[in-house]
Amino acid sequence: MQILANRMDRGFYKYQSEFEEKALEVLRSGWYVLGTEVENFEKEFAKYTGARYCVGLASGLDALWIAFRVLGIGKGDEVIVQANTYIASVMGITINGATPVFVEPDETFGIDINKIEAKITTKTKAILVVHLYGIPTKMDKIGELCKKYNLRLVEDCAQSHGAFYKGRMTGTFGDIGCFSFYPSKNLGAFGDAGAIITDNKELADKFKVFRNYGSEKRYYNKVVGANSRLDELQAGLLRIRLQHLNEITQEKIEIAERYNREIKNTKLVLPKTNDNSVCVWHQYVIRCKEREELIHYLDNNGINTIIHYPIPPHLSEAYKYLGYKKGDYPITEDFADSVLSIPIYNGMTEDEQTYVIDKLNKF
Ligand SMILES: *Cc1c(COP(=O)(O)O)cnc(C)c1O
Repeated sequence: MQILANRMDRGFYKYQSEFEEKALEVLRSGWYVLGTEVENFEKEFAKYTGARYCVGLASGLDALWIAFRVLGIGKGDEVIVQANTYIASVMGITINGATPVFVEPDETFGIDINKIEAKITTKTKAILVVHLYGIPTKMDKIGELCKKYNLRLVEDCAQSHGAFYKGRMTGTFGDIGCFSFYPSKNLGAFGDAGAIITDNKELADKFKVFRNYGSEKRYYNKVVGANSRLDELQAGLLRIRLQHLNEITQEKIEIAERYNREIKNTKLVLPKTNDNSVCVWHQYVIRCKEREELIHYLDNNGINTIIHYPIPPHLSEAYKYLGYKKGDYPITEDFADSVLSIPIYNGMTEDEQTYVIDKLNKF
């Protein structure tokens, strides 16, 4: 059997006629940028998350860096973030000239809430929480720290669409929730797309101006902005996907629960989640000390896997200038050397799941 790491085609064919109908509708409308599809998507996504406002943007990275820009966080400021995240989280901070201050993760791959306070300095302006792999972070203490030290709270929800912590959706705990709708994300577009959610009207308005060259009224530019508009076609297609997001999420949860129950091999560490949370399993990430052998063995059996992520940001060439070296974040580095994402995708058949479980158990 051949099992790819992801099968985005299956997510398309499941709702093919709805997607095709909407695509044609937008193409035939003659209106392609900032129109009713974007407006409706923003309303619908805000409602879905429980936030007051949503602003569509061109990507998840844009959502992050524009978030810090509109919050006025830049040169000379520090932002606390977990060390084991996707590099885009960190770029969202550094594009503005601010400095990322890394904190080690806990067993759930999220920021270790007990190691944050020691990293807070007079320069700290914000905490960026990443609900990595769709596993919601424990938010209570982070909220308290933000109050105590007067910090902004931004959430990177690029992997956690629809995930809950204590009955509240990720992205609604702080000032701004940042989303990516890159095709492989749980709520995926058919190209690049992103958005932010917020309860703060002033911030939402700033995003709307910033994404369109800093202009509210055409050719009257208030600030030096960017072109980061969500286009009508992607917004229309996202509206279709959003209508099915609960069943899309439920399907992934059921596969993950089966993996949790049926993968039994002392060489493998299965992912852990926090109590009182609903994890949406963007990835199902196991850990294995003999990862190279495992990858090779699975590959020989037709199972493709991906490492999320092999090089932590502090050791990446891009961040050489921050001056970190191997050994600075041992837990993060150990994760980078041992994590492996096994196939979990919408439309994965029971036979495919059984095959993956069986091969993992026989490793
Ligand atoms: C995908 C992703 C991003 C960036 O989103 P893009 O739409 O690709 O720019 C940021 N953070 C995390 C955690 C991601 O997984």
